[in-house]
Amino acid sequence: MITLTNTAGRGSSSRFQRTCISQGFCLFFFVAKSKIRFLVCTDYCIYWIHRWEHHPLVYKHIHKPHHKWIVPTPFAAYAFHPVDGYLQSLPYHIFPYVFPVQKHLHLALFIGVNIWTVFIHDSDMITGHWLENVINGPAHHTLHHLYFTVNYGQYFTWADRAGGSYRQPDSSLDPMLEVRGLQAEKEAVVPGKSL
Ligand SMILES: [Zn+2]
Ligand SMILES: [Zn+2]
Repeated sequence: MITLTNTAGRGSSSRFQRTCISQGFCLFFFVAKSKIRFLVCTDYCIYWIHRWEHHPLVYKHIHKPHHKWIVPTPFAAYAFHPVDGYLQSLPYHIFPYVFPVQKHLHLALFIGVNIWTVFIHDSDMITGHWLENVINGPAHHTLHHLYFTVNYGQYFTWADRAGGSYRQPDSSLDPMLEVRGLQAEKEAVVPGKSL
């Protein structure tokens, strides 16, 4: 009887472990799938909303306040016309109504989006890394603020590449080069004046 119970216990235990492993795998797969789907879907929606906002009939009414910063700063990340901010937030809020996503995961992804938005507005023109071919980083978004009609994406470059609006970051396009040049000119002129 005891043997039978123990055997049954071992059987159910191993079944339980198998179930846990398969449930663990399913959970991991579900979380990974949710993250990828969230990033790809919202990235693509933001691309088209952002691109539409650059239409001449729309731009001056909705999106122009954000482009007041020719060279972006992290403060520009949240400097939007209210309608612009609302429209660009729509994909994140509609997503859970279309695809199943665990509520805490959705909240974590939404916080991640906000951090990413600040990050791409730091105007850092770090270039030369292979990931910049795939990831839309600060250098890409700095070029968007400088040239207006390139790099509309949020996290990835694929939508810009497909839409013909991709511009590869290059260190020679760094706006700080011009700032440093002007500073050097200013410093060269001031001693001359004092003579
Ligand atoms: Zn823009
Ligand atoms: Zn921006």
